[in-house]
Amino acid sequence: MALIVQKYGGTSVANPERIKNVAARVARYHRNGDQVVVVVSAMSGVTDNLIKLAKEIMAMPDEREMDMLLATGEQTTIALTAIALHALGIKAVSLTGAQAGIVTDGVHTKAKIQNITPKRIHELLAQGHVVIVAGFQGQTPEGQITTLGRGGSDLTAIALAAAIKANLCQIYTDVDGVYTADPRIVPNARKMEEISYDEMLELASLGAKVMQSRSVEFAKKFGVVFEVRSSLNDNPGTIVKEETKSMEGVVVRGVSLDKNQAKITLVAVPDHPGIAARIFKAIGDAAINVDMIVQNISHGSGKPATDLSFTVDKPDLLKAQKVIEGLKSEIGFDKVIATDKIAKLSLVGVGMKSHTGVAGKMFDTLAREGINIDMISTSEIKISVVIDLAHGEKAMKAVHAAFIG
Ligand code: ASP
Ligand code: MG
Repeated sequence: MALIVQKYGGTSVANPERIKNVAARVARYHRNGDQVVVVVSAMSGVTDNLIKLAKEIMAMPDEREMDMLLATGEQTTIALTAIALHALGIKAVSLTGAQAGIVTDGVHTKAKIQNITPKRIHELLAQGHVVIVAGFQGQTPEGQITTLGRGGSDLTAIALAAAIKANLCQIYTDVDGVYTADPRIVPNARKMEEISYDEMLELASLGAKVMQSRSVEFAKKFGVVFEVRSSLNDNPGTIVKEETKSMEGVVVRGVSLDKNQAKITLVAVPDHPGIAARIFKAIGDAAINVDMIVQNISHGSGKPATDLSFTVDKPDLLKAQKVIEGLKSEIGFDKVIATDKIAKLSLVGVGMKSHTGVAGKMFDTLAREGINIDMISTSEIKISVVIDLAHGEKAMKAVHAAFIG
């Protein structure tokens, strides 16, 4: 008998049929003698739709009211899931985040969990109920309803698993697990049996979106081992856990391709202290996220100048361009070149810490394909290159073949 947290995302509860499927799966565990806490998201599309409705009324709706509104998405699903379990003759009770004892700070629409008092959950489990908890929401100590940021149901599940010391935390989604590359692009990509928190975080932040990054960080901090698996079949998924010795034997764990980046280059920027600070302060003030930054060595002797490139999320490109153009007279660079025809290709693996030659082999693989590298950045467990968008998928296939097979 185990204490299990199961989280079902929006696509897994997208309609009554899918909700019945979820109930059937939960019922199997329950009948097997396990105690099950189910966390559900809103049915897919519902949260987006609620946001759209509010924005049709007002461009920037009050954030407290947005939380009140968005929390209804998950509240719908918990009740429907409880009803689906009742239909199977299983005792089940749904709880809002507040009823489940999830206390957050008061930062509406992106609240942080402060503590969880799972007393009610334990009582209901002890009475033989399946407990169904609304993901993505909590309540402040003063009783205001809050939400945890988009994708926040993952966080609810991981935090609950930590709070009730669950034996098992399963994140059910519409893919079979975490793959070595996007299987839609690389047909022989493999599902990984396990992956470390850090690798998962790199892959998530690199565009291989399986789970909300914050929830993976939380799992790492509190040592919550979890499994990402499909709600549409019974295949085992991918276990996400602390790095082990055997993981280090694998040099490259996965390849990801981010097509959502754009690049800005400032040509002939004066090279003296304070210039980069000025540029990135202005970009930061405009709430634009910068990913890679590359500055060349200085050229010209009298008035040293350099070229400076950086990448931003594609939707921020126009805004970033405007900010930079606005600095032209103050800083005095030659011109700005902006393009959204780039892709970022990354190799991730904890084994890189102890293996050499990964960068060389990656660049050689790209060279053989005739693909030019525009920018390079590295971390302890990752190498990323910016290349031409048109070559993105070809590059991903080639690099996957060279390192993973
Ligand atoms: N329903 C929320 C969202 O769409 C939370 C979640 O699905 O995890 O962002
Ligand atoms: Mg989600």
